[in-house]
Order: sequence, then C-alpha cells, then structure tokens
Amino acid sequence: MKLICIGRNYTEHINELENEKPSDPVVFLKPDTSILLKKQPFFIPDFSNEVHHEVEVLVKINRVGKHIDKKFAHKYYNDIGLGIDFTARDLQRQLKAKGLPWEKAKAFDGAAVIGKWIPKNELDNINNIGFSLKKNDEIVQIGNSSHMLWKIDELIEYVSKYFTLKIGDVIFTGTPAGVGKVVANDKLIGYIENIEMFSITVK
Ligand code: ZN
Repeated sequence: MKLICIGRNYTEHINELENEKPSDPVVFLKPDTSILLKKQPFFIPDFSNEVHHEVEVLVKINRVGKHIDKKFAHKYYNDIGLGIDFTARDLQRQLKAKGLPWEKAKAFDGAAVIGKWIPKNELDNINNIGFSLKKNDEIVQIGNSSHMLWKIDELIEYVSKYFTLKIGDVIFTGTPAGVGKVVANDKLIGYIENIEMFSITVK
C-alpha cells in the first residue's frame, strides 16, 4: 500500500510557510515503512533538529481505481481518519532550496501517524469535518475540511490521474495552519470533532 500526501491544501498554512499558492495540488508519497506502528512512540530522527507535526484528515481507499471522476470518487472510500504527516522542516527547507525531492524530510520511518477510522456515514458532511491537534495541554492546530482548496473527491480525481488507487491506500489531505516543532516527551492527541483519533508520545 501507499500513502499519497497532499501539500498546500489550506490557505493559512501556505501563508505561514510563505509558500506560493499552487495551481494544482502538491503531491508526494510516503512508503508503508513510514507508518508509525500502533502504540509505539514517535522517535525524533537524529538527522533533524526541527520535526514539525502536521495534523491531517485521512481517507482510506476501498476499491481499485484509475482516472476516477470526482462525481464517482465517493464510491472509492468508506472510512475517514486523522493522522500526522511528520516533517523534518529543517531538512525539507534545505531540499526545497536545492529543488530536490522531499522524501528524506517526509518519508522516514515513523513519519506517518494513522489513527483510527470512522465510517463516513457517521459524519454529517465530509466537507465540513472539524478536527484538531492537542500538544500537551494546548490545542495547537484547528482545521475544518471545508477550508480545503481541493476537497476530498477532487483530490481523488486528481491523484488517480497519476497513480492507480488500490485497496488500503491512504490519502493525507494536507494540514491547516499551526504546524510546529515537537520535542521529547510531548504528547500529541488528535481529534475529529470530539472523538479521540490517536494519542502518541514523542521520544
Ligand atoms: Zn502534510
């Protein structure tokens, strides 16, 4: 399985990193080895001094498809989740400056947190999902899927032009504003509405 990640999908996050607003979604992949194993802490890798949390809504693909029209995209997923796209921001900055791929900063072991799943029919409207990330005792990121530049079904249409979607693939739909550095002993808890979706400790 593969993780398909979207960058720059929320205007306020684009502004906080001083990125340009893209005319197409920014897409990158993470390998399955980047998934943080259940109940394991996240270990800050020794090649970075600035790992950031990026909380993101996740979509789990449940049907094989390619060139999926957005009108039919809803048939290709049933479960919505929440996760973290951990990013070694210092390394990403260096790679970006040289025009190099981001994988070393985004696809390392443990860099993808995948929490629990909620059937989409238990959510009133997938284009109006409130979600947040609590770090220790403070809410550090608040988002709503209504603010996505490209909505879930549009993302499926877009990424399936390039990649065949397979059962079990996960789409990370981009992070809202409020990304920030994690340090050892931080505790990160993600919520969709008031439902706890994951809880992890940083080491
Ligand atoms: Zn991200």
